[in-house]
Amino acid sequence: MTKQIRLGGVTIGGGTDIAIQSMLSLPWEDAAGNIRQARELAAAGCDIVRVAVPTKEAVALIPALKEQVHIPVVADIHFDYRLALESVAAGADKIRLNPGNIGGEDRVRAVAMACREKGVPIRIGVNSGSLEREILARHGHPTAEAIAESALYHAALLEKHDFTDIVLSLKSSGVKITIDAYRKITTLCDYPLHLGITEAGTSRMGLIKSAIGIGGLLADGIGDTIRVSLTAPPVEEIRAAKDILKAVGRGRGPVVISCPTCGRTRIDLLSLAGQVEAALEDCTLPITVAVMGCAVNGPGEAREADLGVAGGDGVGLLFRKGEVLRRVPQAEIVPVLLEEIRQMEINAAEERSE
Ligand code: SF4
Repeated sequence: MTKQIRLGGVTIGGGTDIAIQSMLSLPWEDAAGNIRQARELAAAGCDIVRVAVPTKEAVALIPALKEQVHIPVVADIHFDYRLALESVAAGADKIRLNPGNIGGEDRVRAVAMACREKGVPIRIGVNSGSLEREILARHGHPTAEAIAESALYHAALLEKHDFTDIVLSLKSSGVKITIDAYRKITTLCDYPLHLGITEAGTSRMGLIKSAIGIGGLLADGIGDTIRVSLTAPPVEEIRAAKDILKAVGRGRGPVVISCPTCGRTRIDLLSLAGQVEAALEDCTLPITVAVMGCAVNGPGEAREADLGVAGGDGVGLLFRKGEVLRRVPQAEIVPVLLEEIRQMEINAAEERSE
């Protein structure tokens, strides 16, 4: 079990819910645009938002974001420890910085002290493309062991100042090496882990690489917070992250399963499955909803589903846990399913209040 750290109202590690992160993508000078983007991310389900702080002037974005968006804000700092100090003073909830890159022990101590005073954790983000020269020389090339060693090297610089409020990430654009690096680090320390495949690519390939890398690790019980890096608007990262979490059974809302259709299908299942998925976008009930093509095999194939519909000729058979409830005309399938789910939400709320 990893140790827990807190930032703002969010807890990372120790087996709690997996926190979803993303990063603002607009130039830091565009305060209004960044605030708008952060709001959009929060509304889509982002738990923690990161902002690049490349200059002294960019620090002003932190209080501006905190005033307008009620999720923790992480300041992303490269090399300049003064920007870290100023970001902490400006209210950043977490700092992303590699202590070995800020130029000396005094600076590391200053950052560790400032963060400790304000209860601000630090994420050490190791990237296979920027390993320390000595570590690289020892391992020959950026191996999983080299990446893990680099993470521990940076962590040790903070530990020297009794600072252990640390999250680690060990990213690479290679899926296999990333998986191996995270597996390795879990044998060496108990810091919570921020998972991600860096420079994963566009929406399609980036999602596949992230689903394999992040999803595979999560399925093994490794990882405490995730960021899906996509060359796409950041809100797509949140959707992808939510879907990966659902796929490994760590999601927050319903999972829609649907069959691939075959010669038995007599209903427009492609459209129906899309409609059901879209209609359940904001639902938070942790249920499985099946959308199946035929009444012969559908309910049986989706026996584990909490609720489902199987297509007949122009009708749908509504079923629960494999048992057929009733027939519904095709045009009414989506509203009837939604009404059933709304009733399940009411029942769940009543059970909670008892
Ligand atoms: Fe074919 Fe029915 Fe299976 Fe869908 S559920 S793939 S329609 S047999």
